Amino acid sequence: MQSAPKRLPILFKAIRGEVFSSFIGRNACFYDMDTNTFLMEVINGDAIGEPYTDFDFCDHQIELKILERLFEKLNTTKNRLLRLTLSHAVSTLSNEELRYSGGVRNIDTYEDLYSGPLKHAWCGRCLMEDQSKGRDQYMRLLWSLGTNTFCPKHRLPLTSHCLNCFDKDAKPQFAYDGKQSVIICSRCGSNLGSQLGLQNISDRNALDILSDRSVKTAWNAVVRLENTLRRSFTLTTPGKRLTLFRTFIIEFSNILLKSSRGYMPMIEHFSSTAFPNRPDPANVMKLHRPYRATSVATKRKTHALIVAILKGRKNLFTARAPVKNIWSRVPTMENLRDEMSPDQNSELDALLVKFPASYF
Ligand SMILES: [Zn+2]
Ligand SMILES: [Zn+2]
Repeated sequence: MQSAPKRLPILFKAIRGEVFSSFIGRNACFYDMDTNTFLMEVINGDAIGEPYTDFDFCDHQIELKILERLFEKLNTTKNRLLRLTLSHAVSTLSNEELRYSGGVRNIDTYEDLYSGPLKHAWCGRCLMEDQSKGRDQYMRLLWSLGTNTFCPKHRLPLTSHCLNCFDKDAKPQFAYDGKQSVIICSRCGSNLGSQLGLQNISDRNALDILSDRSVKTAWNAVVRLENTLRRSFTLTTPGKRLTLFRTFIIEFSNILLKSSRGYMPMIEHFSSTAFPNRPDPANVMKLHRPYRATSVATKRKTHALIVAILKGRKNLFTARAPVKNIWSRVPTMENLRDEMSPDQNSELDALLVKFPASYF
């Protein structure tokens, strides 16, 4: 391992739209270091405190202070560095509602807290294009934006775990291959840009799904919803209707995702080949607002179900009502209401009063 001198002789510039940990990861792997060690070296061994990936959000004073000291050493400007963090790049983003993080701090008390670094999802095709164009593979800010479950460019589902080893705890890791940095699985070493399958779907079925027009239609409807959500963050003045739309979608999602009094969350009463998910651990669903901590796949399914219910679209869902044993191809609001507790129904009533119909 080479040790990094105080001023690093070679540094790679941040890429437009890149997330902070990716910028650091690309530079660190060139010096054969992990991201945390690299950061410690650069700031001369001061305690970083929280795991480095919290910098991607940069919502604590200590992170901001360290970032302010970093820009000189990293040969960039303060503003450029801040633009790589979610809370500065997307000024209206509310971390309270949206941070996609690791669940609750204390599982025993099910407090409405979440902890752990920001989780990342990625698009294998974007990473493949990076490499084929001869540039570094990098992680995009947009993929970490809490509400995005699709790649806006390729209109394909984002992935949040390695499609080669399926290890739940494996993370994307930067490696230098002699010419450029690539992103590999921390467990099995597979290049994430070579994985073009679909999460939770076998490769054999993925081909069928990718060529199915009704799946594409359903995906596109979710991409439209997510584009609108994204506009509500990225516009400097999103306006009342857009803000209302965002609140509505997130609150509706929370109702669908929440498990109350030991009941299965609503979302698990519906299944879909186009939006497969694995149920989240109970601790996430038991949060008062599980949306922010739920997995990308479950969030994608939730967005899709909202579109299916509100627009009455044929959306490849099957509604499974375990008590009455009714199976229906197009889930309706009645399917949903039948399965909900009185509390959940009144919560939904209160929400529907605020329903921004003009967006559907
Ligand atoms: Zn993509
Ligand atoms: Zn792997």
